[in-house]
Amino acid sequence: MNKEPTVNALRANGLHFDYDGIEALSGINLVVRKGEILGIIGPNGAGKSTLLKALAGVLKPKEGKIWIGETPLDELDRMELAKMIAWIPQSQRTDIPLKVYEVVALGRYPYKRSLLGLTHSDHVEIEKALRITNTLHLKDRLFQELSGGETQRVILARALAQEPEILLLDEPTNNLDLKHSVNFFKVLQNLAKKEGKTVIWVSHDLNLASRFSERLILIDEGKLVVSGTVEEVINEEVLQQVYGIGIRVLRPPLVSSPVVIPI
Ligand code: ATP
Repeated sequence: MNKEPTVNALRANGLHFDYDGIEALSGINLVVRKGEILGIIGPNGAGKSTLLKALAGVLKPKEGKIWIGETPLDELDRMELAKMIAWIPQSQRTDIPLKVYEVVALGRYPYKRSLLGLTHSDHVEIEKALRITNTLHLKDRLFQELSGGETQRVILARALAQEPEILLLDEPTNNLDLKHSVNFFKVLQNLAKKEGKTVIWVSHDLNLASRFSERLILIDEGKLVVSGTVEEVINEEVLQQVYGIGIRVLRPPLVSSPVVIPI
């Protein structure tokens, strides 16, 4: 039988990081396959954002190593890295009066050899990103005047215009209502399935994480508690221990993923 070989998009081995002596990551190992959607969950201060920043090359781990595909992350220069990875941090507000189209065009910077104008292929990629994220109608609006949910979608468009292999998203659905959260993930699922993009996202919403991740990792106090399928990680005992509250995990009929209820 002909089976497609598994391709790793990203690997991390033995990651340690501290902020002036305060440990934030402690021995994290991770393998993420190409085209996979991996959710990162864990309580406040667990180290989720720090992990994402380390994977994005924004923070340099004190110990450990990260590979993007087969290339060590620290061997990629800034432009090469930007063609591989788009990192979307939690807050993306700006006071600079840019139009939405201009914000999305910023995603093309890894492909610019000079500051000269956008090429035809830049415009094609920008329009494609606007269309995919359903923000084309906003293109002439001022970015700083958008709602939280519109902002989030435009930021995703900018990341897509970057044409990265891997998207790192820090609580991307924070400002989205339920419908836009679901639509946001449909976009990501399509990108993963049809274009082989890899998505790693952080969420506090355990039900969204359960519904829209193929695999999950749970971290606490900088350590990886458990990683595996949604069924393996969304486990009453483990979640109760980590979050320190009573939790029930239900599996209602006709619902494809476990449902988490605090009690
Ligand atoms: P949250 O869910 O609250 O966003 P998190 O899981 O993303 O938290 P991090 O933001 O990665 O957690 O923080 C991990 C630890 O590192 C926390 O104890 C935090 O206080 C600390 N920390 C984060 N950023 C800094 C910083 N810039 N300087 C010092 N300590 C920091």
